[in-house]
Amino acid sequence: MEKFIITKSKDETVALGEALASTLAGGDVILLKGDLGAGKTTFVSGVGKALGAESNVISPTFNIMKCYFKGRIPLYHIDAYRLENQNIELGLDEFIEGDGACFIEWPDFIAPLLPAERLTLSIHNLGGDNRQLSFSAEGEHYEKEIMKMEEIYGTRK
Ligand code: ADP
Ligand code: MG
Repeated sequence: MEKFIITKSKDETVALGEALASTLAGGDVILLKGDLGAGKTTFVSGVGKALGAESNVISPTFNIMKCYFKGRIPLYHIDAYRLENQNIELGLDEFIEGDGACFIEWPDFIAPLLPAERLTLSIHNLGGDNRQLSFSAEGEHYEKEIMKMEEIYGTRK
């Protein structure tokens, strides 16, 4: 199952992240794909805002992972870019399908740690502030989340 949504500004991508946030449950795994500057971290910032994270979500690139515990459920934000397949002893598996929602940028670098069931968001820069966000679900659980997200995003003010 795959759904495409185009956003025309950073704020719209944040709003879409907020819409997804309200559908999320502990243990969820969301993979984020797309070039540098596509909008992956921007999307997660909307998720953090709606969950009620204690601070703004910023790129975890230099930390590998950032955790936000104060929201409705914990938010784990991994950026595997600098790991390049040398991850295995870090214990990231504790956070993937753990008690919170786990968002992973550059997931291909930690492929062995990823569950078969997951939601994948691929973002393409269409030029200017336009982005195409493509959501694909592996598993019925994530299909439902995508459908709920669309509904909530469609009825936003
Ligand atoms: P990534 O994490 O994919 O490297 P970021 O989210 O850090 O990307 O950066 C995306 C950049 O693109 C930000 O500077 C943001 O303001 C800009 N931008 C412009 N239009 C959009 C849009 N429609 N959605 C998301 N970001 C956008
Ligand atoms: Mg990023």
